[in-house]
Order: sequence, then C-alpha cells, then structure tokens
Amino acid sequence: MKKPILISAMLLVASLLFVNCESTTSPNESLTEEINSTLSKSLYNLPDSLSVLDNLSEAEEADLLYMVEEEKLAHDIYSNFFDRYGLKIFKNIAKSEANHMAAIQRKLALYNLEDPTENKEIGIFNDQSLQKLYNSLLTAGSASDTAALKVGALIEETDIVDLTESINELEGNSDITRVYASLLHGSSNHLTAFVRYLYSYGVEYVPQVLDETAFDRIINSN
Ligand code: MN
Ligand code: MN
Repeated sequence: MKKPILISAMLLVASLLFVNCESTTSPNESLTEEINSTLSKSLYNLPDSLSVLDNLSEAEEADLLYMVEEEKLAHDIYSNFFDRYGLKIFKNIAKSEANHMAAIQRKLALYNLEDPTENKEIGIFNDQSLQKLYNSLLTAGSASDTAALKVGALIEETDIVDLTESINELEGNSDITRVYASLLHGSSNHLTAFVRYLYSYGVEYVPQVLDETAFDRIINSN
C-alpha cells in the first residue's frame, strides 16, 4: 500500500522542516494533475443524492480504518497545540477534525467495521506508523507557535494527497467518495487557513508534500 511510503516521507519532511527552509521534495507532475482533477470533481461534481449501500473491497475497508485514525491524528495534534499556544485556529480546526472523524465513524458503523478510535485517548493510535508520526509531529510543533502552524500545514497537505488517492481508488463507490470529497474540501480550507496565518506572522510556507502548482491552486481557490 502507498500509505506507509507517504508516512516515511512525512517523517523525513517533519525532521527537516525546521532545519532547512528549502523544500526537499521534487515536483511530481502526474500527482499535480491527479490532485487538480480530484479537487475539481470534489468541489463541483458532488453527487447530490444519497446512494444505496455499496460493497466495500478489503482495500476500501482498510482505507476507511486508516482514514478515521488520520483524522484523529489531526484532531489530537491540534488539540495539543491549542492547549500549548492558545491560538484559536487550532481550536477551530480541531473541532472540524472531530466532525471529519464522526463522518467516517458513521460509515464504519454502517459497514459494520470496528472503529479503531473507539475509547482511544488523545495521542493513542492503533496503527503504529500513525503513532510514530503523531509523536514526531508533536515534537516538531513544540519548538514554537510558528513551528506548530507549519506542522498543521504539513498535516493538511498529507491529508489532501491521501484523500485524493483514496477517491481515485474508489471507482464508483459514491457513498464513501462523497465523504472523502467533503473531507478533502475541509483539508483544502485548513491548509489555506494555516498558510495565511503563517503569512500574517511574516512566515512564507513552502509546500512539503504537494508540488507548487497543486499548492498554489488550492491556496488561490480558497
Ligand atoms: Mn480532516
Ligand atoms: Mn484538516
């Protein structure tokens, strides 16, 4: 699966983010096209009627289970940063992540899948790669409020890439696609919010996961 690869890349980026201002990732044109087309689909062509229950493949089930924890990771990190820095942006976006989690939890219930986030405290994850990522992002954001805002932007970039991949793999499963598309829309807004907040601090955020074209398109469309 592609997710562990992305996580390793993210861990690397997280460790470099506050040492080196230059982006260490190279542009990926096919990824840009994929993200652009998925964003357009998700923003302008949302299915407008509720679909009947689809059959989920094993991969789609695994993806849902991963996604609910990815939303929890965002929620838990932002809650922590709000406690530490008191910046409202973290409180607001954490609330939105809680809604994202709930949206996936409803699907898990609908498809009779066991929710890996059930009864899990803040900062505790079933998926060990996400656990590691959480720990390292929390450490990275402990340096300063701007470091925490950069971690926020990095989390949102990663969500955008993961959701885009998942939507493209969900051929025809409109029930789940609809949820992912709405989460993707949320992530684009969150990324924009973090980047603008950093800008208000006089800090220019350099995209770490997305290439410049996809990044600019998202920031400018919000
Ligand atoms: Mn989210
Ligand atoms: Mn988000």
